[in-house]
Amino acid sequence: MGDTDITVLRLGHRPQRDKRITTHIALVARAFGASSIQISEKDAELEHTIRDVVDRFGGGFSIETGVNWKKIIRQWEGPVVHLTMYGEPLEDVAGDIAKGDILVVVGAEKVPGEVFKHADHNVSVGNQPHSEVAALALFLDRLTEAGWTRHQFEGRRIIVPTKKGKTVIDIEEGYLCNGDCLDVLKEAGCEQDVIKHSEVVTKLAVKMAEACKADVGLV
Ligand code: SAM
Repeated sequence: MGDTDITVLRLGHRPQRDKRITTHIALVARAFGASSIQISEKDAELEHTIRDVVDRFGGGFSIETGVNWKKIIRQWEGPVVHLTMYGEPLEDVAGDIAKGDILVVVGAEKVPGEVFKHADHNVSVGNQPHSEVAALALFLDRLTEAGWTRHQFEGRRIIVPTKKGKTVIDIEEGYLCNGDCLDVLKEAGCEQDVIKHSEVVTKLAVKMAEACKADVGLV
């Protein structure tokens, strides 16, 4: 994201117990502007889940599990930020974090003291215990100055914001695969006459496609 590249390092993942929460950490990392996640324990299933999301929804996000977290923290060349309720308040230090390759460390169970020592910034998102998912989301929002909201993922699957129901465009298929095309027009404030016209044109186009054996689904 601009001149900053963010990697999240997840410590202490317990594959059975933390399956959902670490998945959420990875999904939040991807959606809120990080380019990769490293997870201290090996978890092939988690890797598969996240790669599947990236495959469908796009972006260049990468995941690696079973990493040597001590080596990563010690050898990291950019700023290392550890999210902990014991740290300095986010609102006080957000502006002091240098740009470049940023490593954001989040824990699961008790985080070793070594992490507190090696981190350039120990940052708290409020001084109450809560969730690593919430802490990461708020931190990334602040760090990117909400830049993540403007990021285009350009995946095969695109969600069309819809007031009610679900509208999904599957690029591979080339047409709305789930939900209703008409909902998209209505959501966009299209006039009734124009919608009717679209319906008539659709019917005619389908007849023509059938007559010349073209791809009716695509039409
Ligand atoms: N008892 C653990 C410890 O000693 O750090 C905290 C466990 S907490 C459920 C898991 C992770 O959530 C922490 O390692 C930290 O990254 C994050 N976290 C929880 N509350 C936080 C807060 N108020 N500010 C920043 N991070 C927080």
